[in-house]
Amino acid sequence: MEYPSALKQLLHYPQNIAIFSHRNPDGDAIGSALAMRHYLEQYGHTVHVLFPSEYPEEFEFLPAAEEILIWDIHTEECKHVLGKKNVFIFLDFNAYSRIDKMGDYVKNLPGTRILIDHHLYPEQMADYLYSEPAASSTCELVYRFIVGMGDSQKINPVVGKCIYTGIVTDTGSFRHATNSTVFRIAADLVERGVDDTAVVDRIFNSQKEKNLRLLGHCLNNRMEYLPEFHTALIWLTRKDYEDFEIQRGDTEGIVNYLLTIRDVKLAAFIHNQPTIVKLSLRSKGDFDVQEICRTHFNGGGHKNAAGAYSHDSLKSTVQKFKDLLPLYKEQLAKT
Ligand code: 5GP
Ligand code: MN
Repeated sequence: MEYPSALKQLLHYPQNIAIFSHRNPDGDAIGSALAMRHYLEQYGHTVHVLFPSEYPEEFEFLPAAEEILIWDIHTEECKHVLGKKNVFIFLDFNAYSRIDKMGDYVKNLPGTRILIDHHLYPEQMADYLYSEPAASSTCELVYRFIVGMGDSQKINPVVGKCIYTGIVTDTGSFRHATNSTVFRIAADLVERGVDDTAVVDRIFNSQKEKNLRLLGHCLNNRMEYLPEFHTALIWLTRKDYEDFEIQRGDTEGIVNYLLTIRDVKLAAFIHNQPTIVKLSLRSKGDFDVQEICRTHFNGGGHKNAAGAYSHDSLKSTVQKFKDLLPLYKEQLAKT
C-alpha cells in the first residue's frame, strides 16, 4: 500500500500527537492505540493516548497502559495535553459520538486528523482515512499502516505485542473475522519476537473467581433460548451488578457462549449499567447484527458483532429486542 507523501512527511518528523480510542475500550482499542504510540515514539514524537473511559484490568500488562489518560477521571489533564497537540489519530472507531464528551472537545481543535478503523460507515472526520471493514481488527490495519509507511523494521516486540493483542481479541482467538492476511501477520509478529502464548495467557487466563461465578449465574439463571428464532439472550439487572460486584470488563465475552449452541445464529447480552442499558449482539454467518443495532437502537459495529445503548428500562429493552425477532425470522431460519 502506498501512502500520501504528505503523511510520510508529517509523521517522519517529530510532532505532538494524541491517539484516541472508543469508550469501554477493548483489546483492539487498547492494542492499536499503544502499538501506534510505541511505533510513533521511535520518530521522536510526543505521544499521549486518551480514552473516554477506563480499560479492563487484563490489559494492564501492555507497555505504557498505565500512562493512558482517561477523560472521565483526568478531564483537566486531558484538556491541558490536547491544547498542545497538532496531530490527532482515531483508532477503532469512526464517529465522534463514540468518544463522548471528549469528541465534542476534540472536534473544534486545530490539527491534522488520521482515522484508522474497521467499522462500517465512517463519519467525515479525518484528513487521512484508512477504513477497511473487511479487516479482522484495527490492529491488523495498524500493522499494515506501519508497513505501508515503509517502517516494517519498526515493528519490534513491544509494538508487536500490542498488535497481537488486538488481533487475538477481535478474532475471538482466530475463530472469526479472520482472513489469510491476518494469519500471515500473526506469523510475522511471532517471528519478530512476540510471545503469543504469554499474551494469550495474560488476557484469557487472568479471570477472577467471581467472573466465573458470574458466568455460571448468567448461563444458569439469566439465559433464554428461543429456538424458533435461533436466538439466545442473557440479561443482567442492576441487582446482579451489585451482587456480583461487576466492574468494567467483567461481562466481556459472556455473549459469545450463546453462539456455542448449535442452532443459535443470534445472541444478545443486555445489561443494566449504572446509567444506561447496554446491548451487545453477536451472530454467526451472514446474519447482520450491525443492521439491527443501527436501525433499532441507534448503535453500530460489524456484521457479526455490534452494540448499542438504550435509555429505556432493562425490561422494555429486552422486550423491544424480542419483539423485533419476528421481523428477522426468515433470515434467521436460513442455514
Ligand atoms: P460490544 O458489544 O463488545 O460492546 O461491541 C461490539 C462491536 O460493536 C464493537 O466493534 C464496538 O465498537 C461496536 N459498538 C458497541 N457499542 C456501540 C455503539 O453504541 N455504537 C456503535 N456505533 N458501535 C458500537
Ligand atoms: Mn476492533
